[in-house]
Amino acid sequence: MTAALDPQLRELVHAGGVVVLSGAGLSTESGIPDYRGPSGSLRRHAPMTYQAFVGSEQARRRYWARSYLGWRQIAHARPNAGHHAVAELQEGGVVGGIITQNVDGLHQAAGASGVVELHGGLDLVVCLTCGIRDTRARMDERLNEANVDFVAHVSRINPDGDVELADDELDGFVPVGCAYCTSDLIKPDVVFFGENVPRGRVDTCYALVEAGRSLLVLGSSLTVMSGLRFVRRAAALGIPIAIVNLGPTRGDELATVKVEAPLGELLSELAANYLPTSA
Ligand SMILES: [Zn+2]
Repeated sequence: MTAALDPQLRELVHAGGVVVLSGAGLSTESGIPDYRGPSGSLRRHAPMTYQAFVGSEQARRRYWARSYLGWRQIAHARPNAGHHAVAELQEGGVVGGIITQNVDGLHQAAGASGVVELHGGLDLVVCLTCGIRDTRARMDERLNEANVDFVAHVSRINPDGDVELADDELDGFVPVGCAYCTSDLIKPDVVFFGENVPRGRVDTCYALVEAGRSLLVLGSSLTVMSGLRFVRRAAALGIPIAIVNLGPTRGDELATVKVEAPLGELLSELAANYLPTSA
């Protein structure tokens, strides 16, 4: 059973020069729930803020215990039909740029190139003391060695790789420090709440949006300004905006077309039906 593709959406996408702005809703079909969207319930604990993380050794230990468990699920997540369709549309020359608010690396895993990870990626960690970046996989090996006896019951995972875990389940978790300077101020290379997206990365995104013929928002409620500002910029420049999201978004009033549909199916159809309108 396939809903008819919205003709306005199809026309806009198939005209080319599309800049994609994706959010957690695109990854729900890969088994990573969106804690803001209709498919996910709200997280029980507040997300870690940058200030809390750097300010407390206990906060870091708790974060890493939860993140250690969450990584098992994020690392095993596979791109879904929506990610594959976006990569196909890019390969076909329709999509000119991809900005994602997701930190799961699934666009790239589907074969997309030049993806701008607005909030960074969970595949790297950064030491706030010496500045060294390392792979999350290498850090995970060290965490595994230090935590062979650590078992805990995970109730749910959040899109940032954080899991819901009772505080009393944290007993026994052994954190590891930076592999180079041993500092315990080591953080996933993602933008935390209370932290700004690096200016250069924001400017790269503005340049992509401004060079595009349209902006296609996929699976984001645009709750945070870090994504909404690009929709506002497009609107200010008269660049048409299409939003595909289950549920309302903060950009709805700026959208030329708004569609509520499961992303995997809709994007697959957009990719399959693509006929170039210009060479
Ligand atoms: Zn270090």
